[in-house]
Amino acid sequence: MISIKHLSKTFHNPDGSVLTVLKDVNCDIDKGEVISIIGPSGTGKSTLLRAINMLEPPTSGEIWVDGENIMARGYKLDKLRRKMGMVFQSFNLFEHMTVLQNITYAPIELLGKTEPEANSEAMELLQKVGLAQKADVYPDSLSGGQKQRVAIARALAMHPEVILFDEPTSALDPTMVGEVLSVIRQLAKEGMTMLIVTHEMRFARDVSTRIFFMNEGIIYEDGTPEQIFEHPVRSATKAFVNRIQKLVYEIEDDSFDYLQIHTGLNQFCIKYNLSGLAETAYEIIKEMLFVHLKDIRPLTVRITHAELSGETALDFMVEGLKESPLPENQAVHSLRSRAKDIVEEPTARGFRVKIILR
Ligand code: ADP
Ligand code: MG
Repeated sequence: MISIKHLSKTFHNPDGSVLTVLKDVNCDIDKGEVISIIGPSGTGKSTLLRAINMLEPPTSGEIWVDGENIMARGYKLDKLRRKMGMVFQSFNLFEHMTVLQNITYAPIELLGKTEPEANSEAMELLQKVGLAQKADVYPDSLSGGQKQRVAIARALAMHPEVILFDEPTSALDPTMVGEVLSVIRQLAKEGMTMLIVTHEMRFARDVSTRIFFMNEGIIYEDGTPEQIFEHPVRSATKAFVNRIQKLVYEIEDDSFDYLQIHTGLNQFCIKYNLSGLAETAYEIIKEMLFVHLKDIRPLTVRITHAELSGETALDFMVEGLKESPLPENQAVHSLRSRAKDIVEEPTARGFRVKIILR
């Protein structure tokens, strides 16, 4: 359905600098595929999506859509826009139109639908994304998650052959990520062809037929979710998919700033959508530092979160110890029952107690 050959994009900036963002992108996308594009930021993921629908004309290469080269002179971009829907990180709704008008505008203007036709179809789409009751309100009264669901309904109203999503959940409060992902999941089930740039690794693994890992302006590795997430071949892919987010505190003595830890921990949990764990984690850190490990100083506390597996843990690391600093008493038994697991293990430089929260 879409075939991309030797696509490149070079930006010539006003200050005279030149930046080649896409170097040599090649891929074939079939009807019904759900492809998640992952990779470090700044590697050209958005630029690739914008090139595919010609919002950002490529520098060289070819893009074939349904057997036609869309970069050829004379190709009608209207036709392309009808085939491809786009959903942006920042929603891009028309603020001066109601939700319903946002959805019916393009079908009336571009597809020549009558207003009643467009309205009844828009209502069906709003039903589908769970927002029928919001048809007559303006976007500024909606939450971010609701806005993004309207944006998806608006894209669907054009009956696109493919929808391109550019980080559809990145601008959302973590509590709203799920409602948007579940709409996209539903579309995947229905066989919609989609290209999704996302940082939600677990979602990408669950929903996609294929993953493109972009790095350094190319599709650095592609494969099934299993290949990319479980058995990546190239080391940069491996490092990216297995990356672990960490927050580290050095505890020198008892004058450490526990409020700083509390704040840092809360921010960390919000960022990685772990808000449900923040209080438990803080209670356990306090308990470890002030009760079980009160005589152990200095030590290092780490909060770790593996994005792909979802494992979140608290590490307490002590240099120069050969045995676990954790006593075997009643209080520690109670701690064990609150954790998913506790791993006590020697490290290269000392000993680590790892409390796995989930
Ligand atoms: P990603 O989506 O993977 O984070 P982007 O495609 O947004 O990456 O950007 C890749 C690089 O191209 C970045 O360094 C960005 O600054 C640059 N870039 C993107 N759009 C433009 C533009 N219109 N003009 C100049 N540079 C741009
Ligand atoms: Mg981007």
